Amino acid sequence: MPSADLPASLLDAIAAEVGTPTYVYAADAVRRQYHALTGALAGMPHRIHYSVKANSNLGVLGVLRRLGAGADIVSGGELRRVLRAGYDPSTIVFSGVGKSLEELRAAVSAGVGLINVESRAELDALITIAGRGSAPLPVGLRVNPEVTADTHPYTRTGGRGMKFGIPSDEVLEVAQAVADDPHLVLEGVGVHIGSQICEAAHYAEAASRLAGFVREVRQAGIDSLKRVDIGGGIGIRYRNERPMELTDFADAIRPLADTGLSVVLEPGRYLVGNAGLLLTRCLYVKRSGGRIFAIVDGGMNDLVRPSWYQAEHEIDIVSSPPGSADAQVVDVVGPLCETGDFLGLERELIGVAPGALLAIRDAGAYGFTMSSNYNSRPRAAEILVDGGKWSVTRRRELMDDLMRGERTLEEIDSTGWASPDGSSAAVAEARTAPSSMPR
Ligand SMILES: *Cc1c(COP(=O)(O)O)cnc(C)c1O
Repeated sequence: MPSADLPASLLDAIAAEVGTPTYVYAADAVRRQYHALTGALAGMPHRIHYSVKANSNLGVLGVLRRLGAGADIVSGGELRRVLRAGYDPSTIVFSGVGKSLEELRAAVSAGVGLINVESRAELDALITIAGRGSAPLPVGLRVNPEVTADTHPYTRTGGRGMKFGIPSDEVLEVAQAVADDPHLVLEGVGVHIGSQICEAAHYAEAASRLAGFVREVRQAGIDSLKRVDIGGGIGIRYRNERPMELTDFADAIRPLADTGLSVVLEPGRYLVGNAGLLLTRCLYVKRSGGRIFAIVDGGMNDLVRPSWYQAEHEIDIVSSPPGSADAQVVDVVGPLCETGDFLGLERELIGVAPGALLAIRDAGAYGFTMSSNYNSRPRAAEILVDGGKWSVTRRRELMDDLMRGERTLEEIDSTGWASPDGSSAAVAEARTAPSSMPR
């Protein structure tokens, strides 16, 4: 069920004002999800750390911060965003399988609340930069619980032999290494088993493994744990999915509360997925080989989920030009030069015609954040709606944005080539990684 039930008149007005394709997010819908989750977990000491990669728009981040959420980040760029959005560094958890030394340094100097390490090698890297602050650095272990969730293969992350997490049989050794280092303190253990998980049983399995890890660590004499992190992944309804009830989810993770530790959750999709939609306008209707194509101005570069994950989003006609009331079964396709560029196949739509405004529902998560400039298309505008008010929270990219930082061959000829043994000013300028990291 789409919870972003925004009136057609509002969507029409937004499209007329800022053009299409455009993402629209409903703040109220985000709040509703947040409160439903905290409500279901009432009585269990817990903290929600919003997983920023689902939707990292600064306005959306602000809505969640004001609700009291912390942030779960996976890159230095996300760190920069959440600091800009006003998150207290102590409410940030830094996860991710391949944090660079630069990213770890930035996180340490920002004072993030917890760094989740995913391997012994990453811990060794962290040790080389810890120890400059006065207080020991809070560290968590992300463990691979060997739980294979029943979701799309690309959104499973907790199975044996996957790149994520510390393998079960190394957890104790890594925990001991953290405990033995005077500059570190082991505050958390956690898992993240995947995304769009609809079965509570997977969480029950993960929670019982996780509670087992807590026991092991404590039996080894390490008593510094403060929190236990079940990760994200709570599934939502797009079309035919049947997500678990939140009460079943809460029951599944109850063993974590029994450890006496604070339970951390890292939901992304659950909080924002149903709260957003993508507005796109029909350019042409075309018949070919027995099919009817509605060619719209939004494509796979704007919303990649249909072609990447075979995801199905509901598609509605918001408004159509006068005299176009026929029902037709159409493939809603974008303008990109790729056969995989579709937003929905074989959809019965009433009033699809050039000029019609379409809403691709439930596109608030992994929509804009996975968008790209493929085919040199400026990325969409993003709009935040709160009650009856709306505002641009990210303007549409401009043509000039597309080539920012690029140089023509003539410009390179005049200043830019480096020889193998030397460097030129222009090449040095291009090496931006360290100075572009948040400080
Ligand atoms: C992506 C991710 C999440 C959020 O997943 P959702 O399915 O959006 O809830 C949580 N934790 C980690 C470590 C992640 O990588």
